[in-house]
Amino acid sequence: MKKIMVVEDEPALRETLEYNLAKQGYEMHTAADGLAALEIARKEQLDLILLDIMLPGLDGLEVCRILRQESTVPILMLTARDEEVDKIVGLEIGADDYMTKPFSMRELLARVKALLRRVQLTQEEIETQEQLAGVKTRTFADLVIDPSRHEVRRGGELLRLKPKEYELLIFLAANQGAVLSRDLILERVWGWDYTGGSRTVDVHVRWLREKIEPDPAEPTRIVTVRGTGYRFEG
Ligand code: CA
Repeated sequence: MKKIMVVEDEPALRETLEYNLAKQGYEMHTAADGLAALEIARKEQLDLILLDIMLPGLDGLEVCRILRQESTVPILMLTARDEEVDKIVGLEIGADDYMTKPFSMRELLARVKALLRRVQLTQEEIETQEQLAGVKTRTFADLVIDPSRHEVRRGGELLRLKPKEYELLIFLAANQGAVLSRDLILERVWGWDYTGGSRTVDVHVRWLREKIEPDPAEPTRIVTVRGTGYRFEG
């Protein structure tokens, strides 16, 4: 479920936004001032923030500027006046979109949906591009990795790799010859928020070796670097 935070000091508007967005199936958080908003944004993994500019204490522009240094969460600014629009655009504070009050709920919901979809697309594109940039079709003796088809072949035969085995192989192959620590592999392949230990890496390396090594007991492709991690020899 996508998490959205509404930052708005006018109770009536805040509650209307909360009610209508919750009805669309979003998990809602609300804040009535800038400091409370920052606190929630740091605690929750938000997918989108609706941020009013005129707030007591820390204003929306300031909140936006601070948030931009800490995360890439999409921010939709809510403005009451045209001169605020000039500020958002002119200062390049990093907001993703803005709406001028008063707006229709229908228009707001459409913008929210569009923004969430855009962000989702971007993340998928980045991952694909990173993988493709790192490894084009590459051949290591009888092993052929083809990221454009998401395929790995050995001696012409298609290997059945689990998603994480594939990602691990892509990451190793993209960094051929480099010593990669377990922690680094864990962070890049499983993500920084993965809570399992580095044993996960060892287990997947073992599985991968059984599929790509001529002799899994004496690995020559994925070599263990004692006390550190692994090195892909190809
Ligand atoms: Ca306000």
